[in-house]
Amino acid sequence: MVRETGFYDLLGVEPAATPEEIKKAYRKLALKYHPDKNPSEGERFKLISHAYEVLSDPKKRELYDQGGERAIKEGGMNGGQSPMDVFNMFFGGGSRMQRERRGNNVVHQLGVSLEEIYNGSTRKLALQKNVICEKCEGYGGKKGALETCSACKGNGVQVKVQQIGPGMIQQIQSMCSDCQGQGKRFSPKDRCKNCLGRKVVRTKKIIEVHIDKGMKDGQRITFLGEGDQEPGLEAGDVVIVLEQKEHQTYQRQGDDLITKMELKLVEALCGFRKTITTLDNRTLVVSSSQGQVIKPNDIRSIQSEGMPVYKDPFQKGQLFVNFLVEFPEKDWLPEHLMYQLERLLPPRVDLLLTDDMEEVDLCHVEERAQQKKHQGEAYEEDDDGGDGDSPRPGVQCQTQ
Ligand SMILES: [Zn+2]
Ligand SMILES: [Zn+2]
Repeated sequence: MVRETGFYDLLGVEPAATPEEIKKAYRKLALKYHPDKNPSEGERFKLISHAYEVLSDPKKRELYDQGGERAIKEGGMNGGQSPMDVFNMFFGGGSRMQRERRGNNVVHQLGVSLEEIYNGSTRKLALQKNVICEKCEGYGGKKGALETCSACKGNGVQVKVQQIGPGMIQQIQSMCSDCQGQGKRFSPKDRCKNCLGRKVVRTKKIIEVHIDKGMKDGQRITFLGEGDQEPGLEAGDVVIVLEQKEHQTYQRQGDDLITKMELKLVEALCGFRKTITTLDNRTLVVSSSQGQVIKPNDIRSIQSEGMPVYKDPFQKGQLFVNFLVEFPEKDWLPEHLMYQLERLLPPRVDLLLTDDMEEVDLCHVEERAQQKKHQGEAYEEDDDGGDGDSPRPGVQCQTQ
């Protein structure tokens, strides 16, 4: 039994979720609450990342399921990973520490329709990213005018002394806000007017994303070196994460597609001919041969009408057709014709009634529920609550 579900709740998944579902949930939330997109939700981003860090590791997840967050802390499993590391591992492949320092990756989620993935398509995306300031070439101000920061005396840190009790003081070190921890800065008159001394400027960049046939939900498309630039560092990447949108008529399962088809009873028993519109707008005609019977929920497959296989698009999966059979409504046939119909149908087995049998009514379930509600209201009016919930035979039911 799972006792604590906080981490699961944070990711919005069930405690029985598969690793795949956990990944998907994290992907969605991490992109939504990334500080670049949602600067005010930093705390949320941290919590989501921590929850994912635990639940994505089978050992940690087991420990969490058994003893909750406390067990994680006590087991020394509280992870040293920063939220950004978790994020970069997930989206960028490899943490900062494993490779040389680079500018940030710009990660963007792109919703794509099943049609776009089936046919392949190109999408234009406008992204915001940091590029090195052209005016000062990433220097931040007038060449040679960089001076030692007076606020921190070039240390990059400021030390505050606080009295926290009689005779007790505390020293707090924090990054110098005047020079951003650099120890050096430009005086306002020497600072670059274009980037205000930040060395980089935020710009809009249009990229073209090619969606290849058969790509999967969650698949990443990486544009190397198109991410944030920072002076002296290699530029980060732009990472596009595909999110496959739900489709009205088709469901995708790997390379296969599933669709539903409604049949009238006559079609299910006597044969049918119907059309299916494919994702590339072709019309397929399907029919059942004479003598075939399609039962409710029967499934048939059409070869090579599923999704194209990624990188091998002439190869396609299967299309499964799931049949629903619509039965006629009550009293659809006059009684005197029933006998004729019955003569045509497979014979029924007649029951011999004996004295020890008991005849009961078959109630319509929705009507029955309505009745119960009416009865309940009646009892409330009589101020005679209590057994209003107990089941009782309904008048309507007996007349059926
Ligand atoms: Zn300073
Ligand atoms: Zn500049």
